[in-house]
Amino acid sequence: MSQEKVLVIADSITVGELAETLKLPVTTLIGELFKNGIVATINQRIDFETATIIVEELGLDVDLQKKEASHTHERKTHQLSEKAVERPPIVAVMGHVDHGKTSLLDAILKTKTVEGEAGGITQHISAYQTVRNNRSITLLDTPGHEAFAALRQHGATLTDVVIIVVAADDGVKPQTVEAIRFAQNANAKIVIAINKIDKDTANSQLVKTQLATEHNLNPEEWGGDTIMVEVSAKTGQNIDKLLDMVLLVADMEELRADVDVPAEGLVIESHMETGRGSVVGLLVEQGQLKPGHFLVAGTAYGKVRTMLDFTGKTLRSAGPSTPVTVTGFKELPQFGDVFTIVKNEKEARRQTDLARIEREKNAASTNVTGADLLKMMNQQHDTQEINVIVKADVQGSLTSVMDSLRLLDTGDMVTLRIVGSGVGNISENDIRLAADGETVIYGFNVELPPAVKRLAMRDKVQVRLFKVIYELLDDARSTMEEKLAPEVVETEVGTLTIKGIFRTLKEELIVGGEVTSGKIVPNILARVKHGDEQLAEVEVMSLQRQKQEAKEVFEGEMCGLSLKTTKKLLLEEGDTLEFFTRELVKRKLD
Ligand code: GDP
Repeated sequence: MSQEKVLVIADSITVGELAETLKLPVTTLIGELFKNGIVATINQRIDFETATIIVEELGLDVDLQKKEASHTHERKTHQLSEKAVERPPIVAVMGHVDHGKTSLLDAILKTKTVEGEAGGITQHISAYQTVRNNRSITLLDTPGHEAFAALRQHGATLTDVVIIVVAADDGVKPQTVEAIRFAQNANAKIVIAINKIDKDTANSQLVKTQLATEHNLNPEEWGGDTIMVEVSAKTGQNIDKLLDMVLLVADMEELRADVDVPAEGLVIESHMETGRGSVVGLLVEQGQLKPGHFLVAGTAYGKVRTMLDFTGKTLRSAGPSTPVTVTGFKELPQFGDVFTIVKNEKEARRQTDLARIEREKNAASTNVTGADLLKMMNQQHDTQEINVIVKADVQGSLTSVMDSLRLLDTGDMVTLRIVGSGVGNISENDIRLAADGETVIYGFNVELPPAVKRLAMRDKVQVRLFKVIYELLDDARSTMEEKLAPEVVETEVGTLTIKGIFRTLKEELIVGGEVTSGKIVPNILARVKHGDEQLAEVEVMSLQRQKQEAKEVFEGEMCGLSLKTTKKLLLEEGDTLEFFTRELVKRKLD
């Protein structure tokens, strides 16, 4: 019997990493995924189960095993001391698109605004807090399941509770299932919010039946242990009850953290802002973070200059489960990096240097990037193309932008392919589609929501927003032109007939002659010709006229030349030199 090879992978892995692990070409893997109905890019994460299926279908003699996320557990179960205090639960809201995640989050935050406390959200960060019965709840504005997968890879099971939103008029959908899987994998507690119950078409019973029969989530009223709350994000009905349930679930978890230890937590957002420099969202997991602290997160460090809560209010100290925005990082840390506190700048630098070396080592061992892959494919097909996704505010403008873009594509030098289009803001799905590293997203009169922007930054997807069509087209045109290989342009400048040969070495020729047309200058190129036959290409090193260094020699004048050559040439009097310049010129589209 053949011996199966055991390979251990994390519970989610990018297509590129899996290919590397299996020692398979990425394209084979992408092809197999495609056959299974999954359109994936090299940077896309697939979960362990999918990886197992693909390995089976490929008939590989490999036994995939899930790596125990030891780091995760280590972090999750910080050895708590006697003095550990209760901390607010960290809650993520997930669910299928349009089922009401955003509305629900708004509705939850509004309950607090009514108390006149928060005064509305003044800045977009990825986490908020609300208060129910004098207890805080931390809410994560989920930047997409993939981002969460990245967080988990970084060794953090961040969420204690996942609220899964299911629209009562639409039922369980693919992303609902994904959310359930995510929560279960992350060991988070699930609370189902059956939303939109104000609608006539709402059918909560159907949702419950689907969850119970297809996903083994049985509502309490049927003797199960899954909490399901019927809510309306629109009218606010039962939002308080939902929060009560979240707290109830949290109580069963006994969520505690130490505060008398050095602060530690996770980077949940980072971007640059004019005037403020680096603006970094952190979620404190333990300890008390204060202005003046030296932070290290991955390869970035800094001293906390300002620290704000999610409403923009200055904080003097932030304890466990508190989301904050800090300025002062010298460079941007990455989403999902763990931050810790160090004594001083010297220590911060030492640690970031180590982290950098570690990261470079890891990077060196990872596979080709999406961009590399695309380049490889381009080389293979020898075609130049750019892929674009177009989003616009209304159907009319979408049509005209797309029509104008198509006109740019003359089809001969660079092909412009519209791989996606739609009405509405740039979405996570657009970013996912464009994550091959070579697709540009054009937005016309639409927005890039902060959560989506984060994802775009993380996946290095180019999103370009315009309000004027011709500016968008100009940009597309110059992007296409950048794809064109530069043109080699040779310009003839003069000719000379050789009258004397003074030296013919392997690397240098010294000749004299008469300029028969145009002019000669130093540092240009020349073709050496014997009749019609070209003997070599040489470079003019120096030029002399009447034994003097010359900058130019014109038609009818005699001169001496030192030429750089790569081979010994057998020259004869009467041979000619044709002088020319050679430049690389950026090509333009017709
Ligand atoms: P998301 O994609 O999950 O974030 O969904 P949104 O919060 O953007 O909501 C999608 C659509 O459903 C929007 O048009 C909302 O106004 C609507 N919606 C959300 N919650 C409710 C609700 O409780 N009742 C009704 N009638 N509409 C809702």
